[in-house]
Amino acid sequence: MEKVTITINGHECQGMHDQSVLAVAREHGIYIPALCHHPEMPSSGGFCRVCLVEAHQDGRMRLVTACNYPVRKGLEIKTDTELVKRIRRGIMELLLCRVPESPVIREMAARDGVTKTRFFRDEGEGLRQRCIACGLCTQVCEEVVGVAALAMLNRGRDKEPGTPYHKSSSVCIGCGACAYICPTGAIAMVDRDDTRTIWGRSFAMVKCSVCGAPYIPEAQVEWIVKTTGKDRSFFDKCPNHR
Ligand code: SF4
Repeated sequence: MEKVTITINGHECQGMHDQSVLAVAREHGIYIPALCHHPEMPSSGGFCRVCLVEAHQDGRMRLVTACNYPVRKGLEIKTDTELVKRIRRGIMELLLCRVPESPVIREMAARDGVTKTRFFRDEGEGLRQRCIACGLCTQVCEEVVGVAALAMLNRGRDKEPGTPYHKSSSVCIGCGACAYICPTGAIAMVDRDDTRTIWGRSFAMVKCSVCGAPYIPEAQVEWIVKTTGKDRSFFDKCPNHR
């Protein structure tokens, strides 16, 4: 792939043609906030919008989402103009109104000088107290794990991920990918003794034959064996003792 040079806040940065602005910025230690993006997942730029930046090219300026805007030769990016900061503060206020007690959102908002919101504080209950409804959890479950145990439920401010009808899912394998990828830590997953509990269901964990530590749900092992043909004995030992 072709290397290209772009400018971010006046600094020359090298990236690869088609790499995202966000990825190049991170490689060069330049902060651009992002929530609904994960480096291992395709980005739609469609939800949180906190990564909005100014993109200047061929005498034109556009506001773009850094997580999915591809770098091109000669592109000039500005992440800290008054316009960008004003828009981002507005977005942070809206996020704060949805999840006012989320430590991740409060910290991100404070970085932009936003400590309170002009809008109605929507406290919510349970998962909704931290969930920004970005949909990364449903995406990872369907596109990476291949299970599709989750969907976005309800509409408007009540929108949240969950299992159908909030019933215990028969297809969930307890892998925890949804909890790991959640940018605000909204999804509760508890590993206690040799049991994992997530989405209202408990999963027995497989113990490592060397150290005895429970490290992967039995249901996840069965799923991997079934879908990949991997030998069951591979999971007798945890990654540290293979
Ligand atoms: S724990 Fe269940 S819901 Fe979450 S990603 Fe894994 S299979 Fe999907």
